[in-house]
Amino acid sequence: MGNSLFKVKYVVTCNESFQILHDAAIAVEDGVITYVGDKDKVPYSLGNFDYVFDIKGGVLIPGLVNCHVHAAMTLFKGVADDLPLKRWLEEVIWPLEDKLDSKSLIYGNYVAIMEMLSSGTTTFADFYFFDELIEAVKVIPIRTVATLPLLDKLPNSEKFWSRLKNVKSYEHKISEVPGGLISLALGPHAIYSCSEQLLREVLMVSDKYSIPVHMHVSETKYEFDLVKKEYGLSPVKYLDRLGLLNKRLFAAHCVYLDEGDVQLLSDRKVSCVHNPSSNLKLASGIMPLYDLLKKGVNVCLGTDGSASSNSLNLLSEMRLTVLLHRGVRLDPSFPTAKDALLMATLNGAKALGLDDKIGSIEVGKRADFVILDGRSLHLLPENNIVSNIVYSSSPSDVSYSVVDGRVLFENGKFVGLDSENVLSLFNELAVSIWKSRGG
Ligand SMILES: [Zn+2]
Repeated sequence: MGNSLFKVKYVVTCNESFQILHDAAIAVEDGVITYVGDKDKVPYSLGNFDYVFDIKGGVLIPGLVNCHVHAAMTLFKGVADDLPLKRWLEEVIWPLEDKLDSKSLIYGNYVAIMEMLSSGTTTFADFYFFDELIEAVKVIPIRTVATLPLLDKLPNSEKFWSRLKNVKSYEHKISEVPGGLISLALGPHAIYSCSEQLLREVLMVSDKYSIPVHMHVSETKYEFDLVKKEYGLSPVKYLDRLGLLNKRLFAAHCVYLDEGDVQLLSDRKVSCVHNPSSNLKLASGIMPLYDLLKKGVNVCLGTDGSASSNSLNLLSEMRLTVLLHRGVRLDPSFPTAKDALLMATLNGAKALGLDDKIGSIEVGKRADFVILDGRSLHLLPENNIVSNIVYSSSPSDVSYSVVDGRVLFENGKFVGLDSENVLSLFNELAVSIWKSRGG
């Protein structure tokens, strides 16, 4: 990995004081940021560095953190575009998942990771097929929270109990990936797919081993009404009754929130993952972002899987977040571009329990960052860099994506990967799965 120096025009640190540095440099030693500051005051001679990147016009930001993804669902992009969530899952996605094999899942993961790196994401929380994700990350070393999916209310789903009982073996699998790039989360799928007994066990294991919990929570009106009917409580209050609302939970969606739910999420320090594209495309609804942020809830961003949102581009998710909530509330002052950038960086790192490592550009943190081409037409003029990043940038502006000090994407190329070959095989596999569905 060695030592590297990156000289750029701007560093948007996303630190607590949201410092923006001009004509700056960051030094990286063995994957750790050791200097952030004036590019002419670097406290080491250039001879100390194995690599020096002098990136004219570069705009360096923390790598984006995508907190809710089903990565290998890239295989199902475009196949069930016009169904509501329940029918989408039961009629199309679950039957197709029976046709997946290891190879297609690994290629589905490769392409998801490529899409994320090329649009500025350097960390993602996955929620899908565990083993194949690990294999893919061994090849493309992006930072990942690998969620262990758990559910027991569907036919043949009792086997998931053994996953929970063998959680240590999954931690072991993760530890085989070098550099501590992968961490584990427990993934009770949703209230409607998990028994109360399973959810209680999840809490016990999460408490015992301090493992975060990643769960779909109150995504649709259907789910909200079902839980209310069955338990007499909103999904949020039901989870609170079980003790699952706590700082280790990052809850995807949180679209339908009842009286008092926002306060509860805030009191219990739950993080909520906003997935605007997915919620809009599936016509699920809109998260009450204003209420959550005003009550101090940590809200971060996700794209959800490519089968529901059709894109893993977190740059556009930031833009959509701002536009959507301004349109809903008729208030041009909320949220701001800065709010959106923090949701996609530091807030995401906090949600995943990784803010001691990533989420901002600071000495001592791991070197996960992205450099945008500040000379591109989208990022000029340079009067308001943060505004340009959120409202105007596109994946074509991503020049470098760096994870743990390693350049994984550079000027349109994936380092060490035959991307043409990967994409062509991925396409073959995805087309043949879709063709084999019968009916
Ligand atoms: Zn999801």
